Amino acid sequence: MVRAACHCGAVRITLEPGPTWVLDCNCSICRRYGALWAYTHDRLADRDLDARLIQGEDALEVYIWGNRWIGFWRCRNCGCLTHHTALSEPSKIRGVNARTFVNFDPASVTIHRSDNAHTGWFWSRPDAPIWEGAQPAMAPPGPDDWR
Ligand SMILES: [Zn+2]
Repeated sequence: MVRAACHCGAVRITLEPGPTWVLDCNCSICRRYGALWAYTHDRLADRDLDARLIQGEDALEVYIWGNRWIGFWRCRNCGCLTHHTALSEPSKIRGVNARTFVNFDPASVTIHRSDNAHTGWFWSRPDAPIWEGAQPAMAPPGPDDWR
């Protein structure tokens, strides 16, 4: 069982079993968070990981990306991004931020990169090839566009 926690320890999540891969997404929000996502539905293996918020529901606040369908949850005390949910199922953890894992060796998983920004630009240099973006391309940024 993998333990995940924010920095101050208010928010705690368990994940069972642990992931075999995490996703580095370069979309406008994921690249800012620097999150690496362990999805509770592993679509490569077609299996589910059981993620449970075991502490800290009252410490959480959510950022909802515009009118998008996703909520990003962070600790209101220390600011760490712990997980995301689909707005249609706000109580079901969809992805856990692997950066918050406590007892886990990153070398034990593959890092896949998803090119949702459609730029091919990533801060990370993992060994796996880049996946084409699953999200539709946004218009290229203009001179006053800060996405
Ligand atoms: Zn915290």
